[in-house]
Amino acid sequence: MPDPAIRDQVNERLGDLYERHLPVDDERLDHYYESGRGTYSPAEAGDERERFAVCLATVDGEVYEAGRHDWPFALHSISKVFAYALALADNRREDVLSRVGVEPSGDAFNSITFDERHHRPHNPMVNAGALVTSDLVRGDSTAQKLDRILALLRSCAGTDDLEVAEETFEKEVRTADRNRATAYLMRAEGMLAGDVEELLALYLRQCSVHVTCTQLAVMAATLANGFVNPISGEQALARDRIRDLLSVMYTCGMYDAAGQWAYEVGVPAKSGVAGAILAVVPGKLGIGVYSPGLDAYGNSVRGVSVCKEIAAALGLHVFAREDEDALLGTGTPAPQQLTER
Ligand code: GLN
Repeated sequence: MPDPAIRDQVNERLGDLYERHLPVDDERLDHYYESGRGTYSPAEAGDERERFAVCLATVDGEVYEAGRHDWPFALHSISKVFAYALALADNRREDVLSRVGVEPSGDAFNSITFDERHHRPHNPMVNAGALVTSDLVRGDSTAQKLDRILALLRSCAGTDDLEVAEETFEKEVRTADRNRATAYLMRAEGMLAGDVEELLALYLRQCSVHVTCTQLAVMAATLANGFVNPISGEQALARDRIRDLLSVMYTCGMYDAAGQWAYEVGVPAKSGVAGAILAVVPGKLGIGVYSPGLDAYGNSVRGVSVCKEIAAALGLHVFAREDEDALLGTGTPAPQQLTER
């Protein structure tokens, strides 16, 4: 247990950060909502003013929360991280790589483009790639595959409560034309086999799992901690493929803004169109942010700016200078780092 004074300081600092990012001007909101991708209308995203949370979970099992940390939202694309993790655990490395690449696509998450040279989706963090990784998850039926994905999500979040939200799933199915087209085209091209509708439903179900921001931060901390949930102590998955997973999150996790993110924030992360970002500081910290207003790439506006600020303040960027790094020197307990300005 860290010193209560340190906990207070971290909470105060997180509260500060939250307050500073709380105001949203209506003009910005309208602009971003209008440029939101695909079917994600303002009504779907919800009101950004009311919904904003920032949570941190350390690998020592400390959790810090600010804002609406218990408000549930759909994982959407963040589920791709966990489907890929299972695909990696269930298959030989070269077999996964032959079906889905590790190159950033430079295109939108839902674009119907492929790596033509290697005849596979560009990476597992875009929709086409996630359809393939869902297919790669072991299981005799799609129901069994979904059970395994849910079990992994629950174990990473440290709760048995995570479920597919049926109303989100139904909406996803009603608006799945693009994903359906992508899946059928991939089958026609030999990148997928089997029942496309079943696979599509499996993918959309994992997108529709609801979590809270606190749970998201704990999931991130579990990844930061080599797949050991720092609160329950449970090993959610073998740790041997975590490097592969985090590498792909680093280069491809933020869609076609992945380069900007790597440049500005510099840690592996994944966003989803509900407005959530899960960011991982390996060996140290998990960050969860939830705020529905999206930018033109489909990333949470507040989420990106909050993460930028946390990364700058704590010197989290993987290529941060030594003096920035000093804030986070190895061996320093994470809660302490969070209090240093
Ligand atoms: N459910 C969404 C889709 O498949 C997820 C996309 C996202 O979060 N970027 O289109």
